[in-house]
Formats: sequence, C-alpha cells, structure tokens
Amino acid sequence: MEKSVLYDLHIHTTASDGIYSPTEVIQSAVKIGLAGIAITDHDTVDGLEEGIASSRKENIEFIPGIEMNTEFQDREVHILGYFIDYHDEHLLSKLVEIRQARYDRALRMVSKLRNMGININFEQVKKLAQGDLIGRPHIAQAMVDRGAVFSIKEAFDKYIGRNRPAYVPRYKFTPDEAISLINRSQGLSVLAHPGLIKDDEIVLSVVDMGIKGIEVYYPEHSAEQIREYLNISSRYSLLVTGGSDFHGIGNVESRNRLGCAGIGKDLMQKVYNYCHNTQSKP
Ligand code: AMP
Ligand code: ZN
Ligand code: FE
Ligand code: FE
Repeated sequence: MEKSVLYDLHIHTTASDGIYSPTEVIQSAVKIGLAGIAITDHDTVDGLEEGIASSRKENIEFIPGIEMNTEFQDREVHILGYFIDYHDEHLLSKLVEIRQARYDRALRMVSKLRNMGININFEQVKKLAQGDLIGRPHIAQAMVDRGAVFSIKEAFDKYIGRNRPAYVPRYKFTPDEAISLINRSQGLSVLAHPGLIKDDEIVLSVVDMGIKGIEVYYPEHSAEQIREYLNISSRYSLLVTGGSDFHGIGNVESRNRLGCAGIGKDLMQKVYNYCHNTQSKP
C-alpha cells in the first residue's frame, strides 16, 4: 500500500456485489493500517449499520456511503454519496425501486442466457447475491461456477457486458436525480471514476449538474488522468476523493486490493470540513 493512502473511500461488500461482509472489510482495513474507510455499495445502504458497529469496535473511522449507477447519454455514470441520511424514507423508497428493476432485469438476463444454451438458473444467482441486490457480477459468477466461462471478465466480454447478446438494460437514475437525492439527504455527491466514462464532455456536464466532488484517485486512472482531474477539481472547486473500488476477488483485477487507491489526511480533512458545515446548517 502506498504510504500516503490512509482513507479508502470506495468499497463494496456483500450488501451489493462484493464478496466480503462489512465486518470483514473493516478488519482487513485495520490490518493494513488504514485510518478510515467508506462503504459504498451499489444502490443500497444495507451494509452501513454493520459497518458502523464494526468500525466502532475496531476503532477505525467510518464514512457511510453509497454508489448509484446512473445513465447519461448512453453512458454509465456512477455517483458516490457520502454521509447520506440513510434512514431518509424518500431515499429508501427510491432505492427499493432500483433494486426491483435490478431483480427483474436479472430474471430476463438469466432467461436470455438459458436460451443461448447456458445452464444457469435464477435461484443460483439469488443465492450468490446473498441479499436483495442483484448485480451482473452475480450472474457472471454463476456462469463461472457452471463452467460456461473461465472468468468473470469473459462473461462480461462475451455475454453480459453492454451491447453483448445477453445484456438487458434496466431502469436507472439520471446523474441529476442521484445528485439531488444525495443533496436532499444532506450528503456529499462525488463523481466516481471519471476516467472510466472516457468522455470529458460528460464529466463537465456532471460538474454542471452540481456535483460536489470528484474521485481523482482510482486504480485505473493514469498519471495523466490524475493531473487532468486535479485540474478540473481546482477549476470548479470540487473536493478530491479516491478509493480502490474493492470488491474482493472476481471483479476487475486492478480494483482488488483494499487501499490501493485513496486519499491522505489533508484531503480527508477537507471532506470532513465540508460535511460538518453542510450538516450543521438548519
Ligand atoms: P450492474 O450494476 O448489475 O449493471 O453491474 C455493474 C457492475 O459490474 C460494475 O459496477 C462492476 O462491478 C461490474 N463490471 C462491469 N463491467 C465489468 C467487466 N468488464 N468485468 C468485470 N466486472 C465488471
Ligand atoms: Zn460492483
Ligand atoms: Fe462504479
Ligand atoms: Fe464501485
């Protein structure tokens, strides 16, 4: 781990498509010497209570978060929300809607795959998902388990990635909706991995929508991208964040080391300052 990384602010758990529970992630974070972590599961806050309890026990700072997968101009745009009020009824009901759409879409994808001769079934996918959030990585894992493909990557490349034959789109928020949901629950909205969008016009559009921060430090960002996003952050007065997008084995390889990207103490202090200021406002 790079010495300067003390806070990994982008981590998935079993509440979405990570393979470790919040408690396991927190124990590993303590072991490698992180000062704090954020749990940012896709479209769910279900891991946060456990995260808070375990982080107290392990004496590590804990930032409650979420990652919302949104769509804009036919591209995936992921929005992170930190310090959200995760009891907010409106937010929770919106998330239930999204999870239902994920469930229906997974059913349709499994049926498409079966029609293509791939022998997986929905029960198996649900079991892998463990909770009520089903993601494509769970379908990919089911395919690996059945020997239909050798790896998660192959499942995405050949079958379930965007524009591949078994891909089914699902209802998603727009970035605008995600940002206002996060603002409404007094959270900090951050554009996740801008480098994966591969279109700076879109990045700037999201900045225009009122995003408050940008995830500059990310395992797949090149040195040049990091410079570019640092530039954008200072031009538009955005907070700078970073994280590993850790899922545990099975997901994209470069993101599978806890703490391989993140931020240090000074940047974290700015995030805390911002949040204390907004949250103490009436
Ligand atoms: P979903 O939210 O169900 O559409 O699934 C999207 C998730 O699948 C992403 O957040 C990644 O975790 C994972 N993913 C997307 N593309 C790939 C890929 N090519 N290889 C492995 N995992 C991927
Ligand atoms: Zn994921
Ligand atoms: Fe993401
Ligand atoms: Fe993520």
